[in-house]
Amino acid sequence: MDAPPVLLSEAEIAKRVKSLAEQIDQTYADAGSLVLIGVLKGSFIFLADLARNLTIPHRIEFIAVESYGAKESDVADPVRLLMDVRHAIDDEHVLLVEDIVDTGHTLAYLKRLFTAHDPASLRTCSLLHKPERTEQDVALDYLGFTIPDVWVVGYGLDYAERYRTLPYIGELPPEMR
Ligand code: 5GP
Repeated sequence: MDAPPVLLSEAEIAKRVKSLAEQIDQTYADAGSLVLIGVLKGSFIFLADLARNLTIPHRIEFIAVESYGAKESDVADPVRLLMDVRHAIDDEHVLLVEDIVDTGHTLAYLKRLFTAHDPASLRTCSLLHKPERTEQDVALDYLGFTIPDVWVVGYGLDYAERYRTLPYIGELPPEMR
């Protein structure tokens, strides 16, 4: 399998993740504890690295969502929850951890969903953001990188379940799909 060209190198990602963890450490220094909620599957490597760079006490939860395709895009909510958190997050400080914000529908849906659980606080973190694709504006509290409108793979992100374990973020050209 050919390797997609590098958009963000392993070193660039590692540096940025460390700096995001430092910011998060500062924000929650007095919070007591933090719940990181990773959105499967794409965020699993980012979440693992982010969590290992944090020094504040935290626990980890995962959720899984499904987005409807273009054909069903006129449904009321284009996102559906497939797997929920194991432990209640009421009164907890919660940080939603996404791999990438594209149209913004997933994060907007998740913010609504978790706000209804009455957490002590709810913030959002995404490794990547494609502002050119925004359909629903969702404020990000922590962002790794802004990228152009290209399909990216690696560091947890896939194309049809391939390329997830590439150590860097690559731009997948149409001929490699
Ligand atoms: P949104 O709801 O913001 O449109 O979509 C977010 C989800 O779309 C991400 O969690 C991810 O699963 C998928 N996605 C969007 N753009 C890309 C991309 O360039 N590469 C990969 N692998 N997934 C993407």
